[in-house]
Amino acid sequence: MSYRLYIPGPINVSEDTFRAMTQGMVGHRSKDFVALYESIQPGLQRMMETSDPVYLSTSSSWGVMEGSIRNVVAKKVLCCMNGAFSDKWLDVAKRCGKQAGALQFDWGKPVCPEAVRQELSTGAYDAITIIHSETSTGTLSPLSEIMKVVREFPEVISIVDTVSSFTTLPVSKDKNGVDIMLSGSQKALAMPPGLALLSVSERARKRAETISDRGYYFDFLEFQANHEKGMTPSTPAISLVYALQHQVRQIEAEGLENRYARHTRLNEKVRTWARSRGFSLFPEEKFGTRGLNCFANTKNVDLEAVNKALKSRFQCVIDGGYGKLKGKTFRISNMGDETDATMDTLINALDTVFGELGA
Ligand SMILES: *Cc1c(COP(=O)(O)O)cnc(C)c1O
Repeated sequence: MSYRLYIPGPINVSEDTFRAMTQGMVGHRSKDFVALYESIQPGLQRMMETSDPVYLSTSSSWGVMEGSIRNVVAKKVLCCMNGAFSDKWLDVAKRCGKQAGALQFDWGKPVCPEAVRQELSTGAYDAITIIHSETSTGTLSPLSEIMKVVREFPEVISIVDTVSSFTTLPVSKDKNGVDIMLSGSQKALAMPPGLALLSVSERARKRAETISDRGYYFDFLEFQANHEKGMTPSTPAISLVYALQHQVRQIEAEGLENRYARHTRLNEKVRTWARSRGFSLFPEEKFGTRGLNCFANTKNVDLEAVNKALKSRFQCVIDGGYGKLKGKTFRISNMGDETDATMDTLINALDTVFGELGA
């Protein structure tokens, strides 16, 4: 079974990325691996806009989302919540045995900087979690405004998830003063799932040194000690590291500014199509994220029927809503390697199928 994925992760993986993964195995303590690891670092740092190291974690994003909590929270973490992934982070923090506070916004609303200031002013917190692009609702929160507030509280270590925004728009880690920034392979990097990226500031590593039960697999100090040798703490998914090397080269060849512009253009193309069929974005337009769109299913289209037809006749699939928004919204990804042509193909298929269903 093979069809094109326009769901917001996993997304389409190109033939040449798959081919890069078939390169021969090397020992993870060999010079060959060190060369591979070190060839990727500068590109990743440019993409995150950071001079901090970018560690490679063989896990999905949740591994490093949980790991970050375990490494830096001593007192209490404030979880900014406005959708399925950010809501779940609170639960994950609690399951790690940490004190955690909820700063809840309605799904589809961005995180409000002033509310963050009010909550951090209590002095109860030494860490904060923020999801830049909440994939479940297609909502982009104003990261630089939020971080401006967070920087007023030097005790607070910031943990920012850029899983569905990374390389679709600037994330500016150092300029924003983000301590920990993380992302995953199967979203805008257009790789198979299984690898996560994690960039950690010296400040956050210093905090980790004071925390006793960091565990091993996601221990920041292990990551750093191995990074200094061009390695990872344990055997990484080497095939995925080859894929990452390939994608970093592709992204650098395209140029980050061009890549951002392409994501904006394709994102706008899908919005224009949806508008023409009478749908509006689930979040407010100006808070819509760039790697995908989440639309309100105001016409009550049978999304299961849509996907059935898309799959069987056009070999592609969109997303019929996540969690409590299932059936009430639909999401279309334009992340990764998509082009005007591949998005036009989807839009033509959608026009046919929506037309037949009377929407
Ligand atoms: C997909 C996603 C995750 C979870 O990623 P996994 O790879 O399933 O662990 C976390 N945060 C955001 C914003 C996501 O889009």
